[in-house]
Amino acid sequence: MDKTQNSPQISQEIKNMLKAMENREIKVYYQPQFDALTNKLTGAEALARWVRPDGSVIMPGSFIPLLEESDYINDFDWYILNEVCVFIKGLLSKGLNAVPVAVNFSRRHVHEADYVERLCRVTDGFGIPHRLIEVEITESAFVDRSDAIPSQINAIREAGFRVAIDDFGSGLSSLSFVKDINIDVLKIDKSLLSRNCEDEKERIVLESIFNFANRLKLTTVAEGVETKEQLGFLRTCSCKIIQGFLFAKPMPASDFEEFCKQGSSVTEIEDILKIQAPSSATQLLLEAVFMRYPLVILSNLSRNSFYMMAYENFTSQSCPSTGVYDELIAHGASTMHPDDQELFKSTFTIPNQMAAYERGEKSITVITRQLGDDGIYRRVDTTNYFVKNPSVDDLLVISLCHNLD
Ligand code: C2E
Ligand code: MG
Ligand code: MG
Repeated sequence: MDKTQNSPQISQEIKNMLKAMENREIKVYYQPQFDALTNKLTGAEALARWVRPDGSVIMPGSFIPLLEESDYINDFDWYILNEVCVFIKGLLSKGLNAVPVAVNFSRRHVHEADYVERLCRVTDGFGIPHRLIEVEITESAFVDRSDAIPSQINAIREAGFRVAIDDFGSGLSSLSFVKDINIDVLKIDKSLLSRNCEDEKERIVLESIFNFANRLKLTTVAEGVETKEQLGFLRTCSCKIIQGFLFAKPMPASDFEEFCKQGSSVTEIEDILKIQAPSSATQLLLEAVFMRYPLVILSNLSRNSFYMMAYENFTSQSCPSTGVYDELIAHGASTMHPDDQELFKSTFTIPNQMAAYERGEKSITVITRQLGDDGIYRRVDTTNYFVKNPSVDDLLVISLCHNLD
């Protein structure tokens, strides 16, 4: 820490911080994370605390922003990683089950050319398996240097560490950065959760975030969970991991070690209704449908549009997965036996289907011969089920297609 001697302009507060690190007054507290369905311990987040000699504890909100104004935050984060490695090594050497620990890294590390090498050097120095360290990068980092971060994240993951985006939804970043980067974990910011999640708009926003994160196969962590109501709602969103005062507050290393010894899970009376949450039920239903039908298409006849829901499992023939319904029918017909094309096209015109619906028909079925990738025609049953959209006055169609031969 002799950087201070060469920097006369360094503030007294920073000097105090550096001294605190030297005196090992900076401690790591661990906040456990739990599986949202089983309540089992899955990991922890390392959170810095300044424990003064008189026993008083200073929270990171009072010193991290100050350190973040300079590169001293980098030294600080490496110090914390070192402490975490000491802790994990201690667990492993006692034969205890170590869970992954998330370490916060400031956005300033993007500028460190040897960041990944150093990450490996520190953890390898303690013999810690890389999978036990999760690198947390705050969402706001993507606002400044979005160009440099994706490749750094790839390098971190290639080295075997997990990467989490912290405070998702708190800041100014656009959603598009999530599609441009490869991450393991999305931590949903606590500011998105009100006390009881009772506001309709808030629930829609949360449901949408969890829906896209689950579809991108990201592990979702909800931070700042304090009430049973929040927990119940997060379960309905299929949130995977819970971190919050409801289950456990950040605690000193010795307490967390006790937690790990018990292989801990928090106890709570299980209620089957909580687990059978609406969105997981919908997911199960969809999976059941996909098991039975290789191709499912949701179309809006009133708007001449479609969305193919199981395209990836169905065929290697090129067809856009969403677009204009009329064009979908024309494309579908072109892959069929020439004698069947007219029947298919004339049955599935939009006016014909709307008329069938008006007559009270619930569905229409057509059997055609479809050319497979192996050059053989096989009979395919296409059944269109009519559904009225309850919120907008549109006629929707769910097409379920499967092979008969
Ligand atoms: P963070 O990384 O988002 O950490 C989560 C914060 O939420 C922690 O605050 C935690 O105590 C708090 N929290 C967790 N559950 C609940 C809850 O149920 N209710 C409420 N009200 N709060 C909850 P903490 O420990 O004060 O840390 C604040 C921030 O300081 C952290 O936010 C992180 O951005 C930063 N920080 C902490 N340690 C480090 C570090 O070692 N390096 C860096 N760069 N930043 C750190
Ligand atoms: Mg964090
Ligand atoms: Mg956070």
